[in-house]
Amino acid sequence: MLLNIGVESTQLRQPIQCEVLRSKRKTLALYIKKQKVVVRCPWQASNKELDEFIGNNQDWIKDRLREELELERETLKIEKGRKIFYRARELTIVFKEGRKERVLINGNKFIIQGYKLNAAKARVQVEDYLIDKASEYIIPRARKLAKYLGVEKRIREIKLRKTKSKWGHCTSQGIVQYNWLIMLAPYSIIDYMITHEVCHMVHMDHSRQYWDLVGSICPDYEHYIEWLKAHEHRFWFD
Ligand SMILES: [Zn+2]
Repeated sequence: MLLNIGVESTQLRQPIQCEVLRSKRKTLALYIKKQKVVVRCPWQASNKELDEFIGNNQDWIKDRLREELELERETLKIEKGRKIFYRARELTIVFKEGRKERVLINGNKFIIQGYKLNAAKARVQVEDYLIDKASEYIIPRARKLAKYLGVEKRIREIKLRKTKSKWGHCTSQGIVQYNWLIMLAPYSIIDYMITHEVCHMVHMDHSRQYWDLVGSICPDYEHYIEWLKAHEHRFWFD
């Protein structure tokens, strides 16, 4: 059953659809999914009850719809005209025809240049660009820091890998791994991530001593952790 409710999405300027799913449950519950409201209710719930329930939750519904749209807008997709959150600035992705394949940052533009570009090709170019940047920047810096801390021999290998949900990872066998997507973040954040993993070569835990060591190299680390929490969803792309 579909019904229109009195809520309008400000961005979409159209009534929001509401789907009612009846079952043998006892209570009413609301969900938001792909800009649609879903109400789960008992078999015998009347239309009046449903209207009241939705009416009472209008503000919540509006907030969630707005949040969902915002999240969709912020999700990184390598398409022309779309925004990319790069080094804490919002840039516009521009596709540029050219024989030479490269990525350029110019003013507010994130320019992907290539031959017969399309979204799939552009995505691969951006990936290669970030992997190159990561191997140029992260690997030597991690080694330098390890040397400074006297643990360079404990690092067996530094890997760059795009993982689902982690920025960095390491093992007691000395494998240190970084997600190259972090190259979209400001350098202070990248440096914090480098520090985070290399300090694990000294303390394989998140103990007080560990965080003291991180703080001695990266005094604002708490601020960077917060920043990552608030913004990291904008860096992931498939
Ligand atoms: Zn850790």
